Amino acid sequence: MGRAVRIGVLALQGAYAAHARTLARLGHDVVEVREAAQLDPAALEGLALPGGESTTHLKIIDRQGLRAALETYVRSGRPVLATCAGLILAARRVTGPAQESFGWLDVEVARNAWGRQVHSFEAATDAPFDAQGPLPLIFIRAPRIRAVGPAAEVVATFDGEPILVRQGRVFGATFHPELTDDARLHARVFSA
Ligand code: GLN
Repeated sequence: MGRAVRIGVLALQGAYAAHARTLARLGHDVVEVREAAQLDPAALEGLALPGGESTTHLKIIDRQGLRAALETYVRSGRPVLATCAGLILAARRVTGPAQESFGWLDVEVARNAWGRQVHSFEAATDAPFDAQGPLPLIFIRAPRIRAVGPAAEVVATFDGEPILVRQGRVFGATFHPELTDDARLHARVFSA
């Protein structure tokens, strides 16, 4: 376990409580972020952008006046873990249907793209994540990463396709690491 630090979880909608639990288990001080003033890179040492409904997230981000503070925070170089709807917000381009996104990760994602019969399913990464083996994966109406641009790097795949990417210290996952007992991804992203 790394040094305990203050990590924010964007707590506007969706699966933020489970991220908070995982981060607390790792010994971090968790801050539920709902206001721009909380997004101070000097005070907050990392941020999780949870799953949920990305269209709703966008609306609440604007209603609460969070857009500029989020931009500044994510571009500050602090570690960020964007999962599912969070990845959709972070992507460079979104389809299925198209919607606005922030472009923090050089990927194209298609929303709800696993097909009707498998909106939600469990699996594991193709390769070991570390010495402890593959990472368990839970997909819930998950996006698919359709293209990875040169600024981003694929960290893990499932069935040959990218499901975890990074660009600098910003990580994006199509799955829900916070809904498994496995805290290795949070530990890797937020280790000092
Ligand atoms: N389908 C959701 C969206 O498009 C994402 C699903 C999730 O975050 N579990 O925003």
